Amino acid sequence: MNQSNDIAVEVSGLTKTFGSVVAVDAIDLTIDSGTYFVLLGPSGGGKTTLLRLVGGFARPTAGRVMLHGQDVSELPPDMRPTSMVFQSYALFPHMSVERNVAYGLKLQKMPRDRIRDTVNNMLALVGLEGLNARMPHELSGGQQQRVQLARSLVLKRDILLLDEPLASLDAKLRKDMCLELKRIQEKVGITFIHVTHNQEEAMTIADRIAIIADGKMIEEGTARDIYERPIKRFTAEFIGENNLIDGRVAEKIGDRVVVDAGFATIAVDSGGMGAGIGDAVSVSIRSELFRLLDNDDVADDTLQTIPANYVEAVYLGLTTSHLVKLANGSEFAVRRLSDADPNASFAPGQQVSIGWRTKDARLHKD
Ligand code: ATP
Repeated sequence: MNQSNDIAVEVSGLTKTFGSVVAVDAIDLTIDSGTYFVLLGPSGGGKTTLLRLVGGFARPTAGRVMLHGQDVSELPPDMRPTSMVFQSYALFPHMSVERNVAYGLKLQKMPRDRIRDTVNNMLALVGLEGLNARMPHELSGGQQQRVQLARSLVLKRDILLLDEPLASLDAKLRKDMCLELKRIQEKVGITFIHVTHNQEEAMTIADRIAIIADGKMIEEGTARDIYERPIKRFTAEFIGENNLIDGRVAEKIGDRVVVDAGFATIAVDSGGMGAGIGDAVSVSIRSELFRLLDNDDVADDTLQTIPANYVEAVYLGLTTSHLVKLANGSEFAVRRLSDADPNASFAPGQQVSIGWRTKDARLHKD
């Protein structure tokens, strides 16, 4: 399949229902060729179903799937330019590493000496050089996952689909394999679509991330877009540690709006959100962007502040999370580096203020 078309995947109005469950709900999504694309979201949100629709393992209830400009909605998996790496290793247990990787090439009737060279090159690429004769039970989890990757990549399809490929690995191995997967993708240059519910994994690996929840595409962007400039309230709650304040737009001043949260008023950049007076909105601020201030501190007019009651410090190693209670009863977290933490001296029950720079707050309409 050629890659002359720069768009690898284009799904429109894609819907899949199982009885009364709408697993994928009218999703529109475009993925450029050569992108490492991650579908990220909570469990049961529809990520796997979306991936299976792209791979042809499920038929859409409505909408269509275009791969490299061709409508493949009705084609079976083997007629699509895709191959899939499943969550479980799914290796043939009675076949060596070499025979596992060669399996698809044999089905394609590739000559034997070419198979040997192709398999050897692929094993070198995934870091398994020389392990040709090993059986799956003689490999670690990470190595088995590499064999699966090699077995899919060797088919030389344009789009590789990976369903929670690192889910069964421990945290350290998962981190190493993340970087390894990215390196391999850059080397082979094809499109990877990777499903995960782990945000750290997504941020490490992705060129672009789509947040999928409740069958819908919530928003899409680079890791930095999603983390630093979430548009939707859902994204702000799902990614990182954000603190949210609900309120209504009380006033508009140029590019800023003033949000009345009942116990406090907050000025925030509208971010082109088009919020009108009286609209229900929320404001999110990441916990590491707050400052915790003693009420005796000299007022810092570069910060907006609201009063709070200090609850407790939770030591997390590199950082410490300081919990405070606002007048509306909600708890906020203020995250600081533990080393030389100036907030270490606050006592439970103490009146404090939390402060932030206006540019660090985000407005959400929904
Ligand atoms: P996870 O991370 O847990 O795998 P996910 O985001 O990949 O979740 P899906 O597996 O796509 O979510 O499931 C989306 C919804 O569709 C869920 O409510 C699930 O129970 C339902 N679902 C998925 N496959 C089927 C099926 N074959 N039959 C019935 N319901 C299904």
